[in-house]
Amino acid sequence: MGAQKQLGISSVLGLPVHLSDDYLGWLISQLQQNQGVHIVTLNAEMAIQAEQNEALATVIRKAELVIPDGAGVVLYLRSRGKPIQRCPGIELAEALLRQSATLDRPSSVFFYGGAPGVCQTAATQFQQKIPGLTIAGTQHGYLSSDEQAQLLQTLQHLQPQIILVGLGVPRQELWIMAHRYLCPDAIWIGVGGSFDIWAGIKTRAPGWLRNNHLEWVYRLYQEPWRWRRMLALPKFAWRALVHSGG
Ligand code: UDP
Repeated sequence: MGAQKQLGISSVLGLPVHLSDDYLGWLISQLQQNQGVHIVTLNAEMAIQAEQNEALATVIRKAELVIPDGAGVVLYLRSRGKPIQRCPGIELAEALLRQSATLDRPSSVFFYGGAPGVCQTAATQFQQKIPGLTIAGTQHGYLSSDEQAQLLQTLQHLQPQIILVGLGVPRQELWIMAHRYLCPDAIWIGVGGSFDIWAGIKTRAPGWLRNNHLEWVYRLYQEPWRWRRMLALPKFAWRALVHSGG
């Protein structure tokens, strides 16, 4: 691994977004130096939620890495002269798992979130795809308070180096912020509904929709009950037009 890569920084509606052409390389160097990282995968819906939710905005501002996950965020930055590429969190998380399994000191990973059985299935799929991967444990995302306390002990005991949390926004961001002290050297990432996709329960939009900034159309088609949440998208577009200074 070469010299420490630096991240650039820009902002979207007053929230930070880190700029890099090699997020994965940066993460691997943090992993090798035992530098804890919270990765936030910023999209338009989350940026609009953060306007109403100060706790979420604070977590995003404190995260060591905020990646441009959504098309809206990318178009916003490009329209302000930043030539960035979209970096979907689901792809970065998967690339991190693949890469971590090839290191001299392979990392152990933990999956938390999703309905009972889902992240266990995702773990089994990953184990087949990436034989060198060390999955330290999995836990579904609907825990009683006793089970939650047990999970915290388990994490503290296992000290996984990569922790994927799929509880949806903003629950996962707030949960990571409150509990990352348990494994301070770990890379923590909120992965939303990614376990559902890795487990084969849901599918991602086809490439041609993703490449044309239209992944949201597919989500609306697959999960029409999301329409109310998706009103955040026109709201984001409007804010992007009127917002000056980043
Ligand atoms: N989820 C969970 N516990 C909860 C609420 C939600 O584990 O208390 C999981 C849910 O099963 C799903 C994910 O969180 O796998 C949320 O997915 P969604 O696509 O809604 O994520 P977002 O769009 O908020 O990133």
